[in-house]
Amino acid sequence: QFEAMTRDSLTGCYNRMFFDSELAREVLMARSTGLPVSIAMLDLDYFKAVNDTFGHGAGDQVLQDVAGILRGALRSYDVVARYGGEEFGIIMRGAERAIARRCMERVRTDVEKHVCVVGTNNITLTMSIGVACSDECPGTDESMLMAAADMRMYVAKRDGRNRVIGAEVSFDTVVDTEEFTAASEPMQRREMVATLPRGRVRLKPLSELTERERASRVTLPGKRRT
Ligand code: GH3
Ligand code: MG
Ligand code: MG
Repeated sequence: QFEAMTRDSLTGCYNRMFFDSELAREVLMARSTGLPVSIAMLDLDYFKAVNDTFGHGAGDQVLQDVAGILRGALRSYDVVARYGGEEFGIIMRGAERAIARRCMERVRTDVEKHVCVVGTNNITLTMSIGVACSDECPGTDESMLMAAADMRMYVAKRDGRNRVIGAEVSFDTVVDTEEFTAASEPMQRREMVATLPRGRVRLKPLSELTERERASRVTLPGKRRT
């Protein structure tokens, strides 16, 4: 019964609801223990083409294969969830940013090397991955972590896909987390990232932006600055 509520039936991964509640718990834990928690958002590249070319059933099998690769690459106490259609979310307990980054690099190459055999077709594909860690910024909450990981995932898409973007790149553009979080539609988020200057993206809550940052911050198309 509990399994049915927390798992995704196609892939056997945890579902989004479980991921969200675990993440909130893990952030609280990280705060009280001082240990870091890292998360990653992963999205399959050009997945629509797999469905269009080989059919929806093939697409489903690819999702199952990818889920197996993710679970195989992670520790048993990490959370691997299917966050959306072809998007996965991972929580890495106690992992510092360098470790999370390295782990996701391994996942990326594992996926890249994998051949999914569907009937007579050999299907290969790649993933774009964004990583964020609670140790990047004091007082990080779950929505900031999610915004950072998701935004970096879109930066990975923008910069050519099949790559991992984490905190190791230098940051020079300030983006308001609250606005990014408020942009719930993937297309809005994608557009927001597409308009960013190349290079680093630093995320801060609105309340912590300096006057200069507030003036130069990136706002969503159609949204007025406050
Ligand atoms: P990008 O590299 O920009 O992410 O391109 P994309 O084609 O992966 O992205 P897009 O969002 O255009 O397409 C996602 C596709 O994922 C569309 C949808 O049909 C497919 N999809 C979502 N859930 C499932 C599923 O459960 N099974 C199958 N077979 N396909 C799915
Ligand atoms: Mg995709
Ligand atoms: Mg997607």
